[in-house]
Amino acid sequence: MPQYKVAIVGAGPAGYFAALALNNLQSDDLKFSIDMIERLPTPWGLVRSGVAPDHPKIKTVAKVFEKVANEPNFRLFANVELGSDVTIEQLEEMYDAVVIATGTALGKRLGIPGEDLPGSMSAAAFVPWYNAHPDFKDEEIDLSCETAVVIGAGNVAMDVARMLALEPSELDPTDTADHAIDAFKKSAVRTVIISARRGPENAAFTSPELRELPKLEHTNVIIDKADVEAAIKRAGESPEKDVKSNLDAMLLIAEQEPTNHERTMKFQFLATPKEIKGSDRVEEVVFQKTGSDEVFSIKCGLVITAIGYEAASLEGLPYEKGKVLNTDGRVRKNLYVVGWAKRGPSGVIGTNKSDAADVMKLLVEDLKAPKNGADVATIIAHNKIVTQMHWQAINEAEIAAGEPVGKPRRKAVTREELLKLGRL
Ligand code: NAP
Repeated sequence: MPQYKVAIVGAGPAGYFAALALNNLQSDDLKFSIDMIERLPTPWGLVRSGVAPDHPKIKTVAKVFEKVANEPNFRLFANVELGSDVTIEQLEEMYDAVVIATGTALGKRLGIPGEDLPGSMSAAAFVPWYNAHPDFKDEEIDLSCETAVVIGAGNVAMDVARMLALEPSELDPTDTADHAIDAFKKSAVRTVIISARRGPENAAFTSPELRELPKLEHTNVIIDKADVEAAIKRAGESPEKDVKSNLDAMLLIAEQEPTNHERTMKFQFLATPKEIKGSDRVEEVVFQKTGSDEVFSIKCGLVITAIGYEAASLEGLPYEKGKVLNTDGRVRKNLYVVGWAKRGPSGVIGTNKSDAADVMKLLVEDLKAPKNGADVATIIAHNKIVTQMHWQAINEAEIAAGEPVGKPRRKAVTREELLKLGRL
C-alpha cells in the first residue's frame, strides 16, 4: 500500500484543515503520514494568537485540530524554524509533498506620512500582543491617551476597537494575556474611533460582529443615523444580502437610546486617512472626507491600522502581491500552498476548510511513486522540538492555571515558559 509523506508548514487553521483533507482522502490504497512544522512552540495559529479573547466560541475549532493531531499518522514539530532548522529545499527533497500554510503575518501599510511615529502601530502587532504571542510581548503600547483611532472597517478593526473600548474587567474570564489585561486596566483610553474610508454600505464588517455591539454592557456604541440612512439610499432598492444585513445592524445601533457609560466606541465613515501628525509621537490623524475636498482631523494618542495583511516572505518561495505565487494552490513540483498565504487574508476560519480540501485533491492527483525520503527529525539539530506530547503538556498546564481564576486558560508568554510547561 503506497504511503506518502507530506510536510505541512504552519500549524494554523489552514494547516490543520489540509491535514484533515489528506486524512479524508485516504483509502485502502492511499495512506499519508503527516508532519506539521511550526515556528512557535505552540500550534493553532490565529486560533491562539488572532481570534479575539472575548470570542471563545470561535476557538472551539481547536478541538477539530486536536482530533487530527492525535491520529497515529500525525507528528507535530513545533519550535522548528523554516530556514534555520530546516530549509524548504530539504523538505521538498524528503517529502512526497510540501504544503505551505504560513498565513499572512504582516500588517499592510497605509503609506501616509507619520505612519511610523510612536503611537502608530498595526493590528498585526496589537492583536498578537493581547493574545500572548511570544514575539509581541514587549510591544510598547501607550494607553495613556484619552482617544484612540482604529483605521479600517473590517472584523479585525472591530476586534481591536472592542478590546480597547471594553470595560477591562470583562476580559478577566478570558484568555487575554495577563500583561494586556493589566495594561487595559490602567488604560486612559475612553473614546475609540473606528474609521472607514468608505460608507456603511461598503464596510467589510460582518453582521454578527455588528449585532453583538449593543450587548456591550459598559460601552456606548455610536453610529450616526444620518450616515446609515445615506448608505441605505446609496445601496438602492435591492442591496446584496450581506450589505442589507450590515445596514440593518448598523441602523439598530444608530437608533439605540444614548447611554452615559464612561467608554465610547464611535464609527466614522467616509474618512480617508491622509497623514498622522505629532511632534515626537502621534497627536492627531488628518482625514479627507471621501469624495470631497473637506479635510478634518481627530486628536488622539494611539492609531492602530487594521487594513489587511500580507505574507511575510520565506526564503525559497516565490511571492506576488503579499501571497505565495501559485495556481490554484500549486506552487511548483510537489510544493503547495493553502490558506491566507495562498489566497490572501479573507474569509473566516472555516473558509480554509474547503480551500485546503481543493488543494489537497490536486496534491493527490500529482502524486508519483512514494519517495521514502529521510526523516526530518534527523535534520533538526536542536533538542527543543515541541511534539504533540509536549504541546499536550503545555495545553493542559495552561488550562489548569486558568481554572482557579475562572479563565479557559492562562497563557504562558515567553518561549522559555512554554518550553518549561512542555517539560523541555
Ligand atoms: P478586511 O475584512 O479585508 O478589511 C480591511 C479593511 O481595511 C476594509 O474596510 C478596507 O476598506 C480597509 N482598508 C484597506 N486599505 C485601506 C487604506 N489604505 N486606508 C483605509 N482603509 C483601508 O480585513 P481584516 O479586517 O483584516 O479581516 C481579514 C479577514 O478575517 C476577513 O475576512 C474578516 O472577516 C476575517 N475576520 C473574521 C473575524 C470574525 O469572524 N469574528 C474576526 C477577525 C477577522 P476598503 O473596503 O475600502 O478597501
